[in-house]
Amino acid sequence: MNNQVEIQDKEYIAGTYNRFPVTITSGKGSLLYDIDGKKYIDMASGIAVNSLGVCDETWLGAICAQAAKLQHASNLFYTAPCVELAKMLCERTGMKKVFFSNSGAEANECAVKAARKFAADTKGPDYFTIITLKNSFHGRTISMLSATGQEHYHELFRPLTPGFVHAEPENFDELVELTKTHKTAAIMLECVQGEGGVVALSQEYVKAAAKFAQENNIALVIDEVQTGNGRSGKLYSYMNYDIQPDIVSTAKGLAGGLPLGATMLGERVQNVLGHGDHGSTFGGNPVACAGGVSILKRIDEKLLAEVREKSEFLFKTFQNSEGIEAVTGMGLMMGLKTSKPAREVVNECIKNGVICITAKDRIRLLPALNIPFELLKEAAEIIKTSIKNA
Ligand SMILES: *Cc1c(COP(=O)(O)O)cnc(C)c1O
Repeated sequence: MNNQVEIQDKEYIAGTYNRFPVTITSGKGSLLYDIDGKKYIDMASGIAVNSLGVCDETWLGAICAQAAKLQHASNLFYTAPCVELAKMLCERTGMKKVFFSNSGAEANECAVKAARKFAADTKGPDYFTIITLKNSFHGRTISMLSATGQEHYHELFRPLTPGFVHAEPENFDELVELTKTHKTAAIMLECVQGEGGVVALSQEYVKAAAKFAQENNIALVIDEVQTGNGRSGKLYSYMNYDIQPDIVSTAKGLAGGLPLGATMLGERVQNVLGHGDHGSTFGGNPVACAGGVSILKRIDEKLLAEVREKSEFLFKTFQNSEGIEAVTGMGLMMGLKTSKPAREVVNECIKNGVICITAKDRIRLLPALNIPFELLKEAAEIIKTSIKNA
């Protein structure tokens, strides 16, 4: 605490982050070490990014081998890793084409561009409205702030991009009504609202929205930035709802710790983006994509079954546990509503050797998908004790 890194961070880094008082220096799997050599069990995986933990051997081998061959070529040329990853994504989702970027916000920007162009091509350029949900989170660019249905992200940054309206989650009638009052290009939602407190949408609502979008030639965009890549217990969270979206955006865990965003385009929209319509200098970077290929290969049915088993264990452990008012989420993406303030509980967890984070007023748990059961059990006990002692 109060080491040189922390002191100089406060001096030189823009003050956007209210960091927890830990300087992380290294890790292995689901264990992290700080600058004083203290060990932690990692129940956050860098906000659902380190899908298979820290410095997984196979992943490390894949990215190092690619970095030693070619670290970047630009999108003016063909490279193999991005094609390999795109093919895997399409084969496992039924989507048809992929655009690569570097982050979740960018993946969503591309989703909106594709949806707008699809609507302009099929219905006319005045069909541009994107309906998103209240309590959603879609990123930090000015347009994705506008998409995000939480007022406090909007304050201070007006004027925001026009063309986004927000519907109350679980109110299907309101959603339909908004499509009548606004010429709509797309409905965009997270099946589990992550930053909104880890809240899963109901089967009824998501299915009804998907059916309505399909019947009315409105693009259905699912933001899988946080929920994707095995986190929900299926490869993508929409697969828990038995729907087929038109556009899927993802990032966070896709490349296991390197910056990579992907926007997948389904049948109806696969050809809307043509030469010059979109681009990215870093997007589809070979090293990041080699990481993605390595991660995606490992997220097989066996690992997904394990994710669901671990999820069930966590739900059972925390339900009806002292000081916990609600357990929400899906797969290894879990929210704990505690009677004590979440930030205080998380600080106590960190003191006791478990790294977890918050989402609104909840404690948020996002362990690596392959966290060993023994560590998961140990972390759950420490979290329970920390809730009592916070
Ligand atoms: C994190 C997140 C984003 C933004 O991703 P960045 O990589 O930070 O731009 C967008 N949507 C959802 C659902 C997210 O959880």
